[in-house]
Amino acid sequence: MRVGLDVGGTKTEAVALDDEASVVARVRRSTAFGPEGVISSILAAVEEVSTRAGGPATSVGIGMPGQIVPGSGVISHAVNLGVRSLDVAAVVGAALAVPIDVENDVKAAALGAAVLRRSATVGSSGAAESGLAYLNLGTGVAAGLVTGGALWRGSRGAAGEIGHLSVDPAGPRCRCGQRGCIEALAGGRAIAERWERPAALPVADVFDCVDADRSDSAVRDRARDLRDDLVRGVAAAVRVLVLTADVDVVVLGGGLTALGDRLVTPVRAALRRSGETSPFLRSLHLDERIELLPAGSPAAALGAALLGAERGEEVLTVG
Ligand SMILES: [Zn+2]
Repeated sequence: MRVGLDVGGTKTEAVALDDEASVVARVRRSTAFGPEGVISSILAAVEEVSTRAGGPATSVGIGMPGQIVPGSGVISHAVNLGVRSLDVAAVVGAALAVPIDVENDVKAAALGAAVLRRSATVGSSGAAESGLAYLNLGTGVAAGLVTGGALWRGSRGAAGEIGHLSVDPAGPRCRCGQRGCIEALAGGRAIAERWERPAALPVADVFDCVDADRSDSAVRDRARDLRDDLVRGVAAAVRVLVLTADVDVVVLGGGLTALGDRLVTPVRAALRRSGETSPFLRSLHLDERIELLPAGSPAAALGAALLGAERGEEVLTVG
C-alpha cells in the first residue's frame, strides 16, 4: 500500500492508495514546526493513515515546500516548516524501513493533478493529455510540469519555478529583488502586503472591494489595480507555460483558486485579449487550456504517493 503525504506549513495531509492507485484512506493533521516537529508529524500521519487503511505502508512519498535536489531526499529552505536543511528520506526511511521519495509539493501536486485528470476523463475521451502544467496560486506562485506521464524536474529541480519571472520591469518590487515578477503580481503574500488592509482573506477582500458599490472610490480603485495585477500575473504564467512546454492544460490550484470563476473568468478574458492583436497567440487557444483543480482534491498527497512508481520502481502509467 502506497502512502503519500502533503506536508504544509499548518496541515499535513496523508492518503493511502490501493493497487489501482485509488485513495482508500485519507487523514489530515496539524504539522509541528522545525525539523523534529516535521519528522514526528510525518511519522504520525503515516501511522494514522495506515491504521485507517488496514495495512502497513510499502512505500512513502512526501511532498514538501522547499527545494529538493533531484534524486535526493534532502529538503532545503523550507521556511514555512522551520527547516533549513534536512535529509527527510534518510530520517524517515530509518524509522519506517520502506522506500521513501521526497519531492517539492508543487511538483507532487502536478503529478497528482495529472492522475486525477486522467481518471476523470477515462470513459469520456479516455486520452491522456500530452502535457500538463499545474500552476499553484497560493502564498507564492510556482508551477509543476508533467510531460509523457512523468514530472519534468529540470537539471536542478527548478523547472516550473516561474513565480520569479519578471513580466513588468515597472511593476511592484518583489521580495526576490526584481520588479514585476509574476509572484509580485499574483502571489497571495505580495497582494496582502500591497493591500495594507487587515483582512482574514486579503485577496478575497480585494475582489469584494472591487465588486462592492462603495462610496470610497480610492479604495475601490486600489482594489481594482491589485485585482488587475493578479489577473495579469496569472495570464502571464499561463502564457509562459504554454509557450515553453505547449501543455494541453494548465490546472490552477492553491488557496487563491477558492475565488473560482471570479478569478478564472477575467484570466480567460485577459488571454483572449492578448490574442486580439496576435493571430499567433489566438491560434494557441490559451483561454481554453485553463482548468481548476477540483476543490478539496488531495493532489499533492496523491502525487507524492505515486513518486516511486513515477520514478520507474514499478510500472504505473500516469498522465
Ligand atoms: Zn521575484
